[in-house]
Amino acid sequence: MFLPTTKQEMDQLGWDQLDIILVSGDSYIDSPYSGIALIGRVLQKAGYRVGVIAQPDPNDTKDISRLGEPALFWGVSAGAVDSLVSNYTALKKPRKQDDFTPNGINNRRPDRATIVYTNLIRRAFKNTCPILLGGIEASLRRISHYDFWTNKIRGSVLLDAKADYLLYGMADKSVLQFAAAIKNGESPESIRGLVFASKTLPLNAIELPSLDAVRADSNAFIKAFTLFYQNCDPVTGQRTAQRHDERWIVVNPPARTLSTMEMDEIYAQPFTREQHPYYEAQGKVKALETIRFSVVTHRGCYGECNFCAIAVHEGRTVQWRSERSILHEIQQISKLPDFKGNIYDLSGPTANMYGFECQKKLSSGACRDKRCLTPQPCLTLRIDHQPHLSLLEKARKIEGVKKVFIASGIRYDMLLRDPGSGNAYLKEICDHHVSGQLKVAPEHDSPKVLQLMGKPGKESLIQFKEKFDQLSKNGGSSKPKQFLTYYFIAAHPGCTRKDMLGLKTFASTKLHVTPEQTQIFTPTPSTWSTLMYATETDPFTGEHIFVEKDPVQKQKQKDILLEKDKHKYGKNPAGL
Ligand code: SF4
Repeated sequence: MFLPTTKQEMDQLGWDQLDIILVSGDSYIDSPYSGIALIGRVLQKAGYRVGVIAQPDPNDTKDISRLGEPALFWGVSAGAVDSLVSNYTALKKPRKQDDFTPNGINNRRPDRATIVYTNLIRRAFKNTCPILLGGIEASLRRISHYDFWTNKIRGSVLLDAKADYLLYGMADKSVLQFAAAIKNGESPESIRGLVFASKTLPLNAIELPSLDAVRADSNAFIKAFTLFYQNCDPVTGQRTAQRHDERWIVVNPPARTLSTMEMDEIYAQPFTREQHPYYEAQGKVKALETIRFSVVTHRGCYGECNFCAIAVHEGRTVQWRSERSILHEIQQISKLPDFKGNIYDLSGPTANMYGFECQKKLSSGACRDKRCLTPQPCLTLRIDHQPHLSLLEKARKIEGVKKVFIASGIRYDMLLRDPGSGNAYLKEICDHHVSGQLKVAPEHDSPKVLQLMGKPGKESLIQFKEKFDQLSKNGGSSKPKQFLTYYFIAAHPGCTRKDMLGLKTFASTKLHVTPEQTQIFTPTPSTWSTLMYATETDPFTGEHIFVEKDPVQKQKQKDILLEKDKHKYGKNPAGL
């Protein structure tokens, strides 16, 4: 059963008022892939009366008012993606499509949805109960951040939205503590994962350079982001605070990682995996086609690609569900009437991080002075593909399941560093879990650019490709033909036209492909790469770096790889 989204549904439940109303920039899909649905279910299980308003009309208060005012708090999220990322391309052109909006038409999610929805609530209800922000947009804009769309450093979205509190990261634990605090009339300000504004600097907080300072000085901005990043670890993270004029934005340490049992409990909620009929009447959402028959195995990623924000949102510590819980969910899916036998994804942010972690990280926190996978996978991390291998083997044998895919990427450098089960894992994937092509994301070949991206060197890609080709050729895989599909990024900070020409040569001579999956780098909030873009500095060395900011030149970098401007370079592929 869905959470109520109309007054009529509240009446049917015999509820005259809700405790909590969740507002989202996505249509309402009751799926574990929807943050609002997940948080709503967690709160509902704890006994709270929760309702949902999805994609409210931003120009009229009628929509936002239709469930009345909640007794405890409002929860506001822009949805599964930052609204600016969702609404504009890397060249700032409006996007026509939105997979989380009915009929796929991008006409319902306002720019800066977190701010727009909070203002809408305040317009409809003066002096209402607390407004709590959450979701990826709020999470990644919790302190000062570079905003690509205005080319400015903005302050915390908490103040811009005039909201009361913000929960960052995966808030399923913190939101229960928050709800309990509000219900009991207590201050929530000690809750992990919470951001709030204060008139004074708390005694125990690490002070970040102020908003004024980071706006005026690149080095201050780099220092603020570095301190912010270092304190995202659930074991060692401290409370931080950043001055915004007369107030302080206080960021509490992150929520503790969830145990396997806690993860199992969250994903055992009775999700219908359907779009709510109220919204389905407006049109189907495209995202449901795949997430309906997909299963989350774990959260978090220690890959730390510099252009990715997972480390500051979900964290560097991987948390996973038990095999039993995951297989049970697949069994439930296999009984759904529309299920045709395909599980579209069985993974987490990086598929082959399931089921093991660095013991040092779990007990003492992630290292601040080194990374888990670059420049080489850390020897303290005992890479073990057996848990995911076992899961995949069992999942594909469930009655009614024909195929189990892995839609997320795999880290091939990890696979090469697992002498115990790396080969068996690759064979299992090739034989049963890809449809002719396996996606990998080398992103570039230039050592300089790869280092700035935080990605492994091209040597591991070549080694992996040899292994993959051999497996296919030797009949080690039952598939007649298997391909690798490569994902690349153009115009990442540090990347020049010459680097793209080099990549083009590498792709054609070593990989024997014309890459089709190439995207232009988007400086999304709160990543190391975005910091490089804004400051034109390598934050790890302090050296100046070239950053392509001209949209025409960015497109040209991409076109080099797609051969669109081949005629311009003729027989001189180096373009010199
Ligand atoms: S010891 Fe190695 S694997 Fe563990 S947290 Fe540190 S860098 Fe990562």
